[in-house]
Amino acid sequence: MSPSSLELATLGHRIRHERVAHGFTLDELGARVGVAGSQLSLIENGKREPKLSLLQAIAEVAGIEVTQLLSPEPPNHRAALEIELERAQAGSVFRQLGIAPVRITKGMSDDTIESILGLHRELQRREREAIATPEEARRANTELRLRMRERNNYLPEIERLAENQLKAAGHTSGALTHRTVSIMAEQLGFELIYVNDLPHSARSVTDLENGRIYLPPASIPGGHGLRSMALQAMAHRLLGHQRPADYADFLQQRLEINYFAACCLMPETSSVAFLQQAKKDRNLAVEDFRDAFGVTHEAAGMRMTNLLTQHLDIPLHFLRVDGSGAISRVYENDELPLPMDVTGAVEGQIACRRFLARSAFEEQNRTTEHYQYTDTPHGTFWCSTQTGTTSDGEFSITVGVPFDDAKWFRGREASKRVTSTCPDESCCRRAPAEVTRRWEGKAWPSARVHMQMFSPLPRGAFPGVDDSEVYAFLDRHA
Ligand SMILES: [Zn+2]
Repeated sequence: MSPSSLELATLGHRIRHERVAHGFTLDELGARVGVAGSQLSLIENGKREPKLSLLQAIAEVAGIEVTQLLSPEPPNHRAALEIELERAQAGSVFRQLGIAPVRITKGMSDDTIESILGLHRELQRREREAIATPEEARRANTELRLRMRERNNYLPEIERLAENQLKAAGHTSGALTHRTVSIMAEQLGFELIYVNDLPHSARSVTDLENGRIYLPPASIPGGHGLRSMALQAMAHRLLGHQRPADYADFLQQRLEINYFAACCLMPETSSVAFLQQAKKDRNLAVEDFRDAFGVTHEAAGMRMTNLLTQHLDIPLHFLRVDGSGAISRVYENDELPLPMDVTGAVEGQIACRRFLARSAFEEQNRTTEHYQYTDTPHGTFWCSTQTGTTSDGEFSITVGVPFDDAKWFRGREASKRVTSTCPDESCCRRAPAEVTRRWEGKAWPSARVHMQMFSPLPRGAFPGVDDSEVYAFLDRHA
């Protein structure tokens, strides 16, 4: 309903109010102001716009000013209720439901309308809540990261759950094989099926009725290991996830399934034993941990954030940074100064140009880790960075620790040492004055449009996934 039609509805109610107050029928008032009763009815119902001359005639008969008829306020409580219900029923939230609107009649009590309006108000409230704005999403993400920081990024319940599942499937040590992942699925009553036509919006689809987990074929690039995806699908079942109530809940579930998959690929007992030995040897390295468990550098680095503080008493930071310098994944409990937006979100912010997470892109040799000491306003940090490339472009994975803990890591002898004074803009955000003078007003770059880091949670049956695609997919494979 456009604003003007809403105004017409109020105007109609005001005309009816005056007519009824003076005891006229539609035809009687119509005769006095020179229109048919049926025309007046359309005007009272907000379906037709009256001419100003007609409004003047009606106002004269009612003994009021035209401006009173044009007041935006409903004439009484009943009219206010009717207007609100008409508006709600005309809105897109209600119309999407495909339910026929209630026709308001004279005989309908105020209580009945109040009750229906209550349902509409709740429907609209839920709708607003479900559509998280990017800002709400960022806040929820930051809150989750801070909660996890308080727990050392460590979730003992999920660690135990994963170890029990692995044990039941007969896994003892070494890298987790596809075969073992299949056995784990079977024990949950699921078969893993690889298909070419998964819905675009889904990583996997679980058919609960027929006990199947559909996964993409192994040939799809993009970094998400198949084992990890299968484990994440199982985790939803094992952790008893229900449809998330809000965006925070959605993020929590996503964190938990990622956590479970990481625990299966790098089980706590064997991982901690491996890392403790490396610490003893003063030879800790993300690349060794990665290779021992057959996972990506990113997965190994992230897993270290779960275990290093809890078991080895080492605070640390983890950064995934893309070629443009934007931070796409982050964890920190060592006070490394990081850029932050007003909501406290670090994701999407640009990392300091002096950080190895960015300068490593300039290195020629990309096959091994690079090391660096960085002096910051919060002290000196040592870090190791590995760069890589996906179809989305280049990225770097960084794991670092405060100066005092560098002694446990390979690469502690690094001679490269730089100073970062970020967030002070003179650190790396501002070009030197002479360069600025040289080019000011003589350049016009065209901005690259960045993809939204956090898109709203769609309304369908499954968060983040188009449910019509999922149902069509399941139907094809049934
Ligand atoms: Zn900087």
